[in-house]
Amino acid sequence: MENAATRLETVRSNIARVCKPARREASSVTLIAVSKTQGPEAIQPLIDAGQRVFGENRVQEAEGKWPALREAHPDIALHLIGQLQSNKAEEAVALFDVIHSLDRPSLLSALAKAMDKAGRQVPCFVQVNIGDEAQKGGCPIAELPAFLAQVRAADIPLAGLMCIPPADTEAAPFFALLVKLAADNGISGLSMGMSGDYETAVMLGATHVRVGTALFGARG
Ligand SMILES: *Cc1c(COP(=O)(O)O)cnc(C)c1O
Repeated sequence: MENAATRLETVRSNIARVCKPARREASSVTLIAVSKTQGPEAIQPLIDAGQRVFGENRVQEAEGKWPALREAHPDIALHLIGQLQSNKAEEAVALFDVIHSLDRPSLLSALAKAMDKAGRQVPCFVQVNIGDEAQKGGCPIAELPAFLAQVRAADIPLAGLMCIPPADTEAAPFFALLVKLAADNGISGLSMGMSGDYETAVMLGATHVRVGTALFGARG
């Protein structure tokens, strides 16, 4: 019978296995358990199994379920992995420990203002529109150097680059492109890899993988 603890063990050992030939410590990869659409009853077993980093894609959904869980487990870190509207910047800064979806100047100024007001610095990944998809969020590749300069000037802690490759295609070339963009811009943090491709992402250098279904089973 597969349960949360065994699924967590499987994902962790898969990460450790691909770290070895890459000569990386497994601890250099942060496993983010993506708990969007999952209720507290599905999340609790993972907390009990030792998982402490979780990811949500909606501010409002996270506000509904996390305050109680975090009160019981203050060492939990919460990552925002979904698109963020500028008018939710204050709520996001109050609730999340890391934001993965900084992708445009208007959001940058909203976040900088919110962090200043709250007196709380929240590290941000700059999301890159790695497959140049019109419907997806993310900074266009051509605009990345200029946007990174703006982020650095705004004095927001830059955690790294993040991408979501196009669906139904081989992810590896997109991960490799993100690695190159990071290197070109002197950045070491890489948020890439989901349930179907986190091992590939780790092999290529991911520092943060965002894994939902492989940990929770079916969607909640
Ligand atoms: C849902 C989601 C994930 C996790 O996807 P799975 O395939 O369930 O692992 C990762 N990143 C983002 C941005 C997501 O929205």
